[in-house]
This record gives sequence, structure tokens and C-alpha cells, in this order.
Amino acid sequence: SVGYFRCRTDSSRRLLRNDPMNSVSDALRAVVNAVSPLPIERGPLVESLGLVLAEDVVSDIDSPPFDKSLMDGFAVRAEDLAAGSGEFSIIECVTAGQVPRLAVNSGTAVQIMTGAPLPVGATAVLKIEDVTVNGQQMAYNGRPVPPEANLIRRGSVLKQGMPVLAAGNWLTPARIGALAEFGCDQVPIRRRPRVAILATGDELVPVGVVPGPGQIRNSNEAMLAAQIQNAGGIPVPLGIARDRQDELAAKVQAGLQCDVLVLSGGVSAGKLDLVPSALREAGVAEIFHKVFMKPGKPVWFGQKQPQAESTGCVVFGLPGNPVSSMVCFELFVRTALRRLMGWLPGTPVAVPARLTTDLAHRSDRPTYYPARLTVDEGGCCVQLLPWQGSSDLQGTVHANSMAVLEAGERRYVAGEELHVIRWNSAADGI
Ligand code: AMP
Ligand code: MG
Repeated sequence: SVGYFRCRTDSSRRLLRNDPMNSVSDALRAVVNAVSPLPIERGPLVESLGLVLAEDVVSDIDSPPFDKSLMDGFAVRAEDLAAGSGEFSIIECVTAGQVPRLAVNSGTAVQIMTGAPLPVGATAVLKIEDVTVNGQQMAYNGRPVPPEANLIRRGSVLKQGMPVLAAGNWLTPARIGALAEFGCDQVPIRRRPRVAILATGDELVPVGVVPGPGQIRNSNEAMLAAQIQNAGGIPVPLGIARDRQDELAAKVQAGLQCDVLVLSGGVSAGKLDLVPSALREAGVAEIFHKVFMKPGKPVWFGQKQPQAESTGCVVFGLPGNPVSSMVCFELFVRTALRRLMGWLPGTPVAVPARLTTDLAHRSDRPTYYPARLTVDEGGCCVQLLPWQGSSDLQGTVHANSMAVLEAGERRYVAGEELHVIRWNSAADGI
């Protein structure tokens, strides 16, 4: 929650700095305050994995809808087996999907398959493995059979009109199955946000091109598109904008048609860092610029308010260094996407995990360090991976999370507890 970030990062910031740069918790709070859920609509249940249920769903039928057998076997009266044995005449056979015509009386049995409706009068089912069948006769000789053995009664899981799943829960396979049982083929959700990606930089070439002198490949676009998909959004790549006001302005306009615009590069203090001014000129109001964190300090956040013909857009300027972009996405953009999709509060959840090795760390800012979170007999453990800083994307390829390290100089010892934020997919939940 936001609270976690508040306690760790704010105190260290005041010790080390005087200027009023936002802490990560300030910045997360600003994102939370700025972004509200998209309107509720109905979408196909089969495409809802990782979305958030937007309205309460109640059962339209009893579950199960009829008394039914849980086994392949014979439906009988339990009273007939109080002594532990009995002989029966088989009067009918019912398979799943059929409806029994005859009632079970003393000394009679109906052969029944798993999922088939129970005949009137039956109070237990004998498993096929436990009986001997001879023509139309069936015999049981074993332990006394308790009433209700191997069957389930209508409405015993859920009665019609009872809550199945409340609004605000994100949809997992189990929940999708539960909603399907109650006829929810169109599910109330908030749609996946459309997220424009605009990479900026004169040095960038498309991924399919061999870079010339001074050039690098636009790796951020592919990475951000994958992060957007992981977070449940729909990436809308806009290609590369050169560091020129006119080119930036045109592409920013295109990006503002989406729910979210994510830019990479051009937000630091360089001569051609034109993104903040281009956004201002496009009518995007700045909410914060710079956050007291590492990597990702230059991150920019603003919002274009909805106007008559447009729905408004949440805008992030991520620093161009790949790991800065990645970390800022996981903290801020993902929070915005969660909120748009109705997942509240939407802020990252840090889990405690034991550090696997000693570590000396020194930084002027709270650091989000590429890490590998695993589980052993003792619970969660976290290993920090060799990493050279914000431009070292290779150092993150075996990471599945980021560990939060305090600002200042500090020795961490193996076994000490760190807080770790997972880089999971929306379908994995928190
Ligand atoms: P900037 O934030 O524009 O100052 O860029 C910081 C660093 O990130 C520079 O070394 C850039 O070349 C690099 N960079 C910027 N954009 C991208 C991108 N789309 N893909 C990979 N690296 C980038
Ligand atoms: Mg640049």
C-alpha cells in the first residue's frame, strides 16, 4: 500500500535532502488521486482474465441445481444398509443429463453416473467399486453407509440470489469458472485501457535495424508494450519521435487519443529533453516531475482533462534508460492501469522476504533493485542480482521483482528482511 512507501522513503529523504522532491509515496498518492476507474461496461467472460469485476454478481440458480450423485454407482436408501450389507434390484439407469423416472424404495437401486440427478427416495450412493452386480441384482457388503454418502443436495453450495463474487475482485480462472456457472457470459468490467507508447530520441532506430554510429535500438517500446500487456492494458506503439518540437507535438496529439500515454526519454535535464514542454503545450497539466528514487528520478506525470470530444488522458514521461523506464512503469504506470481497470487502491504491494546473501549498499536515494524472489521451506527469499544501474537492462533479465533499499549507506546481512515488489502479470493478482 501507499503506507508502506511513506514510512520507508520519506524519513530517509528528509535526512539527506532539503529540496522538496516528491517521495515515491507522494508520487503514488498523486497517481491514485488523479486516476479513477473507466466506465463500467459488459465484456465477454472468456476475455476477462485479469480484469476486475465491476458489479456484484448473484447466483441466478441454485448450485448445484438439483440433488446429484458425486460418484458412478447406485442410488439407494441409506436405511437399507444400516447393518453394513444389503441386496437390491436395479430398476433403472440414469446418466448425466437424464432425469430419473422411478423412485427408489426399500430394496431397490438406481444405477447412477457422476453428475446425474438423484432419484426420489435415494439418500445415499454406493460406489460401483464397492458392490457386486449380477444381472439386475446388486449386492453390497461392507461398512454401514451413512445417509447422504456420495451425493450433494440442490442449493447446498449456493442458493439462488446469493452473492457469487463482489465488485472489485479481479478475475482469476477460478472466479471466471464460478461466474460461468451462474450464466454470466457477459461480465460487468472496465475495459482494458489503451496505452500509447512514444519513444523519443534522435539516437533511436527500430529494433529490426542495425544501429549506425551513435545510434541505439528502441528497446523500450517492446519492453513497455510487454509491461502494458502484463498489466492488463492494450499497447498502442507510436514508433519513434525525434527530439524536435514539431515531431513530438504531432505524436503527442496521437497519443492523447488513448487512455494513457507513456513516453520514454526526453524528461531529464539535457539540451534536447523536450518532453515536459511538449506536453505542457499539448494542454497536459503537470502533476509531478522528479521523484526521490533510483533509478527513475526524472519521471514526469500529468493529465489532460476530459474535454467535450475527448475522454482525457493520463500521461507519464519515463526516463529513457531502460531500467528507469521499467521501474517507473511498475511503480506508477501500473498503478494508473490498475485504477483505470477498477482495481483499488492499485498501489504496488511489497512482500517481506529474507535476503539470501550479505550486501553493502550505498545510494543517495531509495533504490529499486532488480531481484529474484523465490520460496523455500522458510518462506520468501530474495536474491539481489548483479546490476550496473539504470542503463543495465541485461542485469534484469533473471529478475522477477525489485527489492526496496533505503537511501544512505548500509550493510544488509543474509537473513535480514527486505521488502520486494513483484513484477507479475495482472492475471497473477497482487
Ligand atoms: P533520455 O531519458 O532521453 O535522456 O535517455 C537516457 C538514456 O536512455 C540514453 O542513453 C538513451 O539513449 C537511452 N534511451 C532513450 N530512449 C530509449 C529507448 N527507447 N530504448 C532504449 N534506450 C533508450
Ligand atoms: Mg533522449
